[in-house]
Order: sequence, then C-alpha cells, then structure tokens
Amino acid sequence: MSGKTVLILGGGVGGLVASNVLREKVGAQTTIRLVERKRQFQFPPSYPWLMLGQRKPEQVQKDLGLLKKKGIEVVNDEVESIDIDGKVVKGKENDDLSYDYLIIALGAEYAPDAIPGFKEHAHHIYDLDSAVRFKEAVEKFERGTIAVGVSRTPFKCPAAPYETALLLEDYYSKKGMRDRVKFEFFTPEGNPVPAVGAEIGSKVAEFLKSKNISYHPKLKVTEIRDGEARFESGEQISFDLLFCVPPHKAPKPVVDAKLTDETGWIPVKPRTLETKHNGIYAVGDVTSLPTPKGYMPFLPKAGVFAHGQAEVVANNIAVQIKGRGKVKEWDGHGSCFLEVGHGESAFVKGRFLAEPKPEIEFHMPGKVWHMQKVLFEKYWMRHWF
Ligand SMILES: Cc1cc2nc3c(=O)[nH]c(=O)nc-3n(C[C@H](O)[C@H](O)[C@H](O)COP(=O)(O)OP(=O)(O)OC[C@H]3O[C@@H](n4cnc5c(N)ncnc54)[C@H](O)[C@@H]3O)c2cc1C
Repeated sequence: MSGKTVLILGGGVGGLVASNVLREKVGAQTTIRLVERKRQFQFPPSYPWLMLGQRKPEQVQKDLGLLKKKGIEVVNDEVESIDIDGKVVKGKENDDLSYDYLIIALGAEYAPDAIPGFKEHAHHIYDLDSAVRFKEAVEKFERGTIAVGVSRTPFKCPAAPYETALLLEDYYSKKGMRDRVKFEFFTPEGNPVPAVGAEIGSKVAEFLKSKNISYHPKLKVTEIRDGEARFESGEQISFDLLFCVPPHKAPKPVVDAKLTDETGWIPVKPRTLETKHNGIYAVGDVTSLPTPKGYMPFLPKAGVFAHGQAEVVANNIAVQIKGRGKVKEWDGHGSCFLEVGHGESAFVKGRFLAEPKPEIEFHMPGKVWHMQKVLFEKYWMRHWF
C-alpha cells in the first residue's frame, strides 16, 4: 500500500495530462489531487478560430469536474502559497494541501501593467474572455490600420501572433474589405518564430509579405496611447485596432516560494523536469528549460511541450511510487500548426533537444495540416475527460 499523495497545481494542459497519466499508472491508494482556480479546462489553440467567430466559447472548454469519475480529486481553488520545507500548499479556501510529490503546472500569468496604456488600448486572445472581446472588435471594425504585435519575450505559442495576423487578413479579404484595411506587425524578435531558426522564420516573413502585412522586427513597445504604439527606438505605429501579446510572468506563488531564478521562471532539468527540490517537478509554461544547442537559449512556451513533459513526470513519479517500471526522459519533441487562412495551415515539427542542433521540419501550408489541427482540437476536448 503506498498511500502517497501527488499534488498537481494547475489544471491546464500540463496538469490535465499529468493527472490522467498518473491515474492510469498508479493504484487507487495513491491520491491524485489537482488544484485549479477555474472550473473549466480551456483550450487556447482554438482561440484564433474563436476570434473569427468560427468557435463558440462553450466549444473550447470542458468541465474539470468530469475528472472525478476517473478518481482524480479536483480542488477548485486559488493556490496562494507553496511551503517547500513543510511540503504543504495553501489555497484561498483550503488551508493545508500536503503532498509527497508536487507537480507545478501553473502556466504563465500576464503583466499588462508593465506597459502603460496596454490595458486600455490593446486587445489579445491570450485568455478566453479577452478572445471573446477581440472577436467583437474584429466584427465591428470597418476600415483603417490593424496593428498586430508582440510586447515581450518569452510568450506562449510563438506562432500565435503570426497566425492572428494571417487569419485576420484572410477574414477581411473574404468580407470584401481588404482594400480598406492596412496591416502592421511589430515584435521585439529579430525574425519570426526565432525558436525554429532563421530559415523557417524567413518563410513566415514571406507569408506576411505575400499578404501585404508590413513586418517590423526588433521593435520593443514601451507605451500604448489611443491610436498609437510607441517603441524604445523612438518609432511609432498608428492603429485603429490593436492586437498585442501581453507581457508574461510566472505566477506569484512560485515567485514567492523562491522557485524561480533570474530568468523569472522555474529552472528544471531538461530531460526529467526536476526542480532543485526533491520530489518537486515543474512542467510547461512556468519553466525555463535551457536548450544550449537550440536557436534560442530557452525552450519556447507551448502546450505540446507541457504535454510531453507531463507524461514523463507522471511516469517517473509512478515508477517511484510503485518501486518498479522504467524511468523515462523527455526528448524535446514538439510540433505546431500555423494557420494561414483559406482553410490551410503550415506545420512545424521537431526535436528541440537534439544534438548537435535541433532537428526541425517545416511543411508548407496545406488543407491537410488544417484538418490535422481540427483533429488535434477534437482530441483535446475528448481524450482526457
Ligand atoms: C492563442 C493561443 C494559441 C495557442 N496555440 C497553441 C498551439 O497551437 N499549440 C501549442 O502547443 N500551444 C499553443 N498555445 C500555448 C499553450 O496553450 C500553452 O503553452 C499551454 O497551455 C501551457 O500549458 P501549461 O500546463 O504549462 O499551462 P496552462 O495550460 O496555462 O495551465 C495553467 C493552469 O494553472 C491555473 N492557475 C494559474 N495560477 C493558479 C493559481 N494560483 N491557483 C490555481 N490555479 C492556477 C490556470 O488557471 C491554468 O488553468 C497557445 C496559446 C495561446 C494563448
């Protein structure tokens, strides 16, 4: 009899996978407790479709309470603090959630206050409510300049802002309004999607160019006013509608617990996702995972990574609890769709921890990849519940 407790913080992509995989691998005497402040699991890869009115909010979320029938205990609460020495997590409602193993999958939070004017003037699709608000603004928009931008790195899903610009371009073309809309794209990055290398980035830049979307790399936004984004370089871009990826930061409880380092995120061992504390693991967006041989010093933030990492961590905790089985290592596998409009998507896949350099494949846009993304969505909304 083990009688151990595995506490999983965050019921997003990483937490959902970790709790499911653990439940499959360990017996009922092990308690698997998932703490999440929202009642619903929400699926961000569908937000670009929601922004265009192609999905409704209820189609991109699922009740986390469904996990209870599998024997996963779901605690609907806000994590307030993590006491590493005492092996206890405190929530707003629940005082002491003790654990033998802790998996931190709290993702990233946003820091819109870091940029004056962001809250008042910028739209985004980095949470469900904001995506719904942006959809309404997109529908109402009649003419003028749409600026699509990235405020700071790192941010979730390196392809999402590029996808947003290309999908909006397609949307207004289909509405017969393209000649009334000008597009500007700004980012502090040196080239699009730098984590996959300059060669693939130049293909994305070509997509933007072919759609007459002006691309402005190396621009760091410092202030947003009504109708104008101002940059560190002194440049300005005027807009009538602004989409901007908000600055990201690690959730407060992990910062307060001193789990983060100078990167602002939780450092982990790339292959095992172990933190420096025994029995404490972190997966997904909340981590900083070094990729010394990669195109960028750290792994980008994406659900596909959170998924793979959560499977490895769940497996390895199960091996420890059962005292048998094979310990696994994460191989850095990841893939990503880039919707480009016309019902087509490009596709990138790779092994980001490969040596001597990441092995990354790029597939030009096609309907087949778009269909794969639709299937990917269906899988997520069904498989884990
Ligand atoms: C528009 C958009 C499109 C995307 N498209 C893709 C894509 O196509 N492919 C892809 O791989 N990735 C994509 N991503 C990125 C992907 O959604 C994230 O990388 C992924 O969700 C990270 O998983 P995670 O488990 O680390 O964090 P999350 O899934 O964000 O889960 C974290 C959870 O922790 C909860 N939480 C946080 N703090 C607390 C607290 N204090 N108490 C209780 N609960 C808390 C949150 O509510 C959340 O549910 C996209 C993201 C966006 C925004």
